[in-house]
Amino acid sequence: MPARKAPSKKPPFKACRDCGVLNPREATICSNCGSSNLLESWEGMVIILSADSVLASKLGINKPVAKAIRISGKIVTK
Ligand SMILES: [Zn+2]
Repeated sequence: MPARKAPSKKPPFKACRDCGVLNPREATICSNCGSSNLLESWEGMVIILSADSVLASKLGINKPVAKAIRISGKIVTK
């Protein structure tokens, strides 16, 4: 049986270095703030489904969004 190819480790998103929002890999600018400072080296993910949630208000987020927790080793969402 042939060995299965390991899945690609490339993340499906790029994180905005300015606001932490995760954008699709093919994006060249951030959908949230318009920055072109998008990086693949991010870790952790917070998904805000409702702007009314406790988590959203704790993070100061007012719309449904996916954010990275750490970008280039720096914690951006806490
Ligand atoms: Zn941004």
